[in-house]
Amino acid sequence: MLNLTPLKAFNDNYIWLIQNTQTFQCAVVDPGDAAPVLKWLAENPHWQLTDILITHHHKDHTGGVSALKQHSLARVVGPALENIPACDLAVQDNQTVELLGTEFTAMLVPGHTKGHIAYYWAGEQPFVLSGDTLFAAGCGRLFEGTAAQMYDSLQRLAQLPDHTLVYCTHEYTLSNLKFAAAVEPTNALIQQRLQQVIELRKQDLNTLPSNLAVEKETNPFLRCNSSELVQQVSSHLQKTLDKQDPIAVFTALRAWKDNF
Ligand code: ZN
Ligand code: FE
Repeated sequence: MLNLTPLKAFNDNYIWLIQNTQTFQCAVVDPGDAAPVLKWLAENPHWQLTDILITHHHKDHTGGVSALKQHSLARVVGPALENIPACDLAVQDNQTVELLGTEFTAMLVPGHTKGHIAYYWAGEQPFVLSGDTLFAAGCGRLFEGTAAQMYDSLQRLAQLPDHTLVYCTHEYTLSNLKFAAAVEPTNALIQQRLQQVIELRKQDLNTLPSNLAVEKETNPFLRCNSSELVQQVSSHLQKTLDKQDPIAVFTALRAWKDNF
């Protein structure tokens, strides 16, 4: 019933288009630029844009909101704790959001920004729109929140069902996996995924969605309890980190990635 398609924007952003194939209503997520969405709507005139979902306030996620709203009268749904242009429905943690004839759940996942929201759909094939919080094989930078907040946010997302598909906003998977391979050199699943992603990117194909089962095996930011990871991060920092202190491990890991 719901169909997701990436519309490319800028260098490496994806604006996810969500279509309800029964009603011909659609929504877009994080339109940093209106142009790709307006182009799609012009080419697909039977479709009505009813909603614009925003995960956080950064310009590359919100830059197209005003133009799209003028064109379509779509409703803008965004995080209550952030300043979102033309926001019609400000959502809080755990709030149910009705759109496209179904229900999504807003999850407050601070870290990248203070009020970042992820949108979860618990239907027959569950998925989460994770914005700049959980990336394929990585996570967002800490611009406003603390490492502890981001760690908790990622743990919360990781508790969704294993087969939940992950739709994030950037094509960062290849560079994320190169880092993952440096952090856990003997993790065969990371090597396997890296090879798959190299092939996809050679053909300029997108690497999404991911799913939570794959992320738990290959995303270093969900693997702060891996002995090899803790040992590699410790030797990189030249400081002994304790596996029992995952937030310290996460903090060091995030700092290493920032300079990788
Ligand atoms: Zn961002
Ligand atoms: Fe972004």
